Amino acid sequence: MNPILKVRDVCLSYHTLSGETPALSHISFDLMPGEFLSIVGPSGCGKSTLLNLIAGLLAPECGSITLDEKPVSAGSTAVGYMLQKDHLLEWRSIYKNILLGLEIRKELTPEKLSHAEELLRIYGLDRFRDARPSQLSGGMRQRAALIRTLVLKPELLLLDEPFSALDYQTRLNVSDDIGKILRNSGKPAILVTHDISEAISMADRVLILSPRPATVQKIVDIHLNINNRTPLSSRNAPDFKKYFNLIWKELNENA
Ligand code: ADP
Repeated sequence: MNPILKVRDVCLSYHTLSGETPALSHISFDLMPGEFLSIVGPSGCGKSTLLNLIAGLLAPECGSITLDEKPVSAGSTAVGYMLQKDHLLEWRSIYKNILLGLEIRKELTPEKLSHAEELLRIYGLDRFRDARPSQLSGGMRQRAALIRTLVLKPELLLLDEPFSALDYQTRLNVSDDIGKILRNSGKPAILVTHDISEAISMADRVLILSPRPATVQKIVDIHLNINNRTPLSSRNAPDFKKYFNLIWKELNENA
């Protein structure tokens, strides 16, 4: 099987009036179809910068990033991006929010509308279709934001700290919920988080970045050996703590 995403030797520095800030240095990794990769690293090391490069919102100064053998580019529908804030529009109903991307792209075809209806039904949001975002819980809002992204049929999903605005218990439930939806969709995904447990519970592999300028310090394969693995059940797996300690040690080695 060939990787769907290839990140090769990528570098980026920010240039401002006060000088140069090297953010990423020679980053390389692959992502396989259907794979879930978590990225952890110290605050300010360049995690969001890396996601912005993969989304095509920034261009690398060296190296290359290809999705399905094509260089990534801004405005492409191939990459879906989910952020900490859901950015749902209060003046639109949940259904109209979910259709926003299709509307902007002038793709409100009968086929795509029926796909949107199907996603609303499958993921339990159809009874909220006419509600306003403020009538939904934080978790339901994140679910609506994810469906708004999935309806565009991206080839890859990027998640930048999508649960960090939620309280701890909601966060556990929502990450479980979103994790299951993503597994079900079969889409490959990259999650940036500062929460080691969250990273392990959701991922097939965890990529650890070094302090800035970020390099790939280590990539850890997660094998929890449990049936019907979900983010919540992963946390109870016997080997979970082993991975937590390993990643904790790596992160503290260079701190
Ligand atoms: P992380 O997501 O790991 O917290 P970021 O990717 O947001 O880190 O930022 C990496 C480094 O680049 C930080 O030192 C940050 O201050 C700097 N940085 C981020 N965006 C800009 C920008 N637009 N201009 C200048 N420096 C930036």
